[in-house]
Amino acid sequence: MKIAVVRESRPGEHRVALVPESCEKLRRAGFGVAIESGAGVAAGYDDDAYRSADAGIETDAESLVQSADILLTVNPPANRDGRAALDWINPSTIVVGSLMPLRDPRQMEALAKRGATAFSTDSIPRTTRAQAMDTLSSMSSVSGYKGVLLAAVALPKYLPMLSSAAGTVFAARVFVIGAAVAGLQALATAKRLGATVSATDVRPEVQEQIESVGARYVGVELKKDASTGGGYAGELSEEDRERQREMLLDELAKSDVVITTALIGGVFAPKIITREMVRSMRPGSIIVDLAADGGGNCELSVPGEDVEVRGVRVMAPLNLPATMPEHASLLFSRNLTNFVEAFSKEGEFEVDADDEIQGECLIATDGEIVHDRTRDALRELVNEATS
Ligand code: NAD
Repeated sequence: MKIAVVRESRPGEHRVALVPESCEKLRRAGFGVAIESGAGVAAGYDDDAYRSADAGIETDAESLVQSADILLTVNPPANRDGRAALDWINPSTIVVGSLMPLRDPRQMEALAKRGATAFSTDSIPRTTRAQAMDTLSSMSSVSGYKGVLLAAVALPKYLPMLSSAAGTVFAARVFVIGAAVAGLQALATAKRLGATVSATDVRPEVQEQIESVGARYVGVELKKDASTGGGYAGELSEEDRERQREMLLDELAKSDVVITTALIGGVFAPKIITREMVRSMRPGSIIVDLAADGGGNCELSVPGEDVEVRGVRVMAPLNLPATMPEHASLLFSRNLTNFVEAFSKEGEFEVDADDEIQGECLIATDGEIVHDRTRDALRELVNEATS
């Protein structure tokens, strides 16, 4: 089978779906691999690096997509940037990438209409077997790391405690809301930079993980268990939200940096930080809303922008992994390669909807959306439009 990768067309995207190291691996597994010329340049991988990895370089993106048995992609294929990448896809093509089906179900509908078989690696189950294919985890980890660095640069203070001839300055306090993959990486990064770190989450089982990176756990006693299984959190009841609000008012007023990463079902961001909480923070403090791609955890966040409210800076960066494209692409590429290799024999990928991993992340095939949650989301959109 021929695996193809073309340049990403999402504005601001610098990642590439396959890096040369993975091309070599896939060639050894029996696949043909071809890359659009220049597709990896923004991530630090030029055409020569791909040639050395035995990948073909093609200049005509349209014929490359049309000839692909498998199209690997970072973002959902779209007709953009003067290209009709979506329209080039054939019914026989297998598309694999981080399609984020619930963020834009209409895009999935358009992909399904092409007849392609589409897998979204951010919908794979959170199991040990699937861990090596989990692009969501790899990218969340990049975001957690980069979010702390953004805060460190913007903060008008040192993060670590420092003693000098001019006396001692105390370590900054970093507080993280939502301690899963992104949150734990943010804690570990802030700790390495010398900050005093603490975190909260609505799933009490993460206390041990928070403490294992040297952070203090700040719990809220919830009336109703917020875990919905599979490591995901559900929405809090109004009563529990009030309990959390009291704790947060107190914690945020003491913090120099607040990093928020909370998502419901891994997709949508609950509003956790209120205007009142931001007002309680000291001037010069920073909020980095890492849930901005899902709408943001702070009432004052403007996705993609920095705003300042009474001296508190609220940063809501979008697509942070694209700002660290070399390593983000390397990890993403390894995840996709692990996915393809797991279901292949001698260069042939076998679609098997009964497999527990494929079944969960198969979004579309034979012209239909087959992913239940995406189908429900589409139905809701249709109902909204007709009501
Ligand atoms: P996520 O992005 O869905 O959510 C981030 C965190 O925000 C979660 O810990 C969640 O509990 C928390 N949160 C939600 N609402 C909140 C609120 N109102 N207040 C405070 N916190 C709130 O999480 P994720 O990174 O996708 O990870 C989810 C779980 O899955 C974690 O337990 C993680 O360890 C696990 N996981 C397992 C695998 C695997 O085994 N293959 C891979 C990735 C993640």
